[in-house]
Amino acid sequence: MQSIKSSISSQGRGVVLSNLDQDLDSRVDLSIVVPCYNEEAVIPIFLTTIEPILKSLDLSYELVFVNDGSRDNTLGVLQQAKLDYPQIRIINFSRNFGKEAALSAGIDFADGKALIPMDVDLQDPPELIPEMVRIWREDGIDVVLAKRTDRSKDSFFKRWSANFFYRLNNKISVNRIPENVGDFRLVSRRCVEAIKLMGETQRFMKGIFAWVGFKTHTIEYQRDERQAGQTSFNAWKLWNLALEGITSFSTAPLRVWLYVGLVAWCLSIFYGSWIILRTLIYGVDLPGYASMFTAILFLGSTQLIVLGVIGEYIGRIYLESKGRPLYIVEDEY
Ligand code: UDP
Ligand code: MG
Repeated sequence: MQSIKSSISSQGRGVVLSNLDQDLDSRVDLSIVVPCYNEEAVIPIFLTTIEPILKSLDLSYELVFVNDGSRDNTLGVLQQAKLDYPQIRIINFSRNFGKEAALSAGIDFADGKALIPMDVDLQDPPELIPEMVRIWREDGIDVVLAKRTDRSKDSFFKRWSANFFYRLNNKISVNRIPENVGDFRLVSRRCVEAIKLMGETQRFMKGIFAWVGFKTHTIEYQRDERQAGQTSFNAWKLWNLALEGITSFSTAPLRVWLYVGLVAWCLSIFYGSWIILRTLIYGVDLPGYASMFTAILFLGSTQLIVLGVIGEYIGRIYLESKGRPLYIVEDEY
């Protein structure tokens, strides 16, 4: 049997993934990838909810838990659970690398013909899995997205900021991220192999998922509240995730300043000519501190903003250039 690697071929600088299906026999059918950070309280609830659903599906499956450097007893709870559920695999990070790295690890380690990343807090309802699997198997769809129609359980700030982010991103980035779709989705093996080819160390998974493309279908659901434990994403983390998303897939923030500069340049030429002309005709006119001061302040602060934007990108180039591993796995159980 051909290995997956050898059936990925390249054409020029592109990659061809069309013949992957032939080597799927030895794989489990479905991998559920679950990143966990301080989730001891919710893991048992997650397992008792998802287990009957997966059992009813008539397919082989595995549950790949990535313990992202939890400081509570998440690892212990997972190891205990593994005694009852042999389908559990545990990838244990050496420290907290963040959800994007945990997801990447899950994707790298999972073996399934299809893969579903899920949050452990049951905000991504496992009840959708049978429908996702049906669409993948019967219709030959590679990506089944789960879109949140009702986010009334999320805070007003979270809804507003998420909405703003999706709109801004989709305006300025070539890579459209489907609105209100989280990481919860089904992706086929060839889509997974495509994702694994993405070389960046600064990983914005929603963008990466969208970038690779493939036949896509969207189903809808209502987002529930977290079942236990608490969120690890505060406003500052979400802001940084949004910056990551935009800088990973768009250079618009860098380029826009060319146009801002051009407009300011034209305006200053007009205004400068007017001042020179006026001085030539009416003589020297001293008042004007206010307009001068305003111009200096405005241009000075604009330059600082631009420097900041450039800094965001240079910082990322710097991190990327070190080529550090995405994550360190301490143990695998
Ligand atoms: N998570 C993780 N590493 C982190 C933060 C979060 O693996 O550093 C996991 C967490 O355990 C959960 C998922 O990512 O399974 C989503 O986190 P959370 O529910 O806190 O985010 P929210 O739903 O509030 O956006
Ligand atoms: Mg959550």
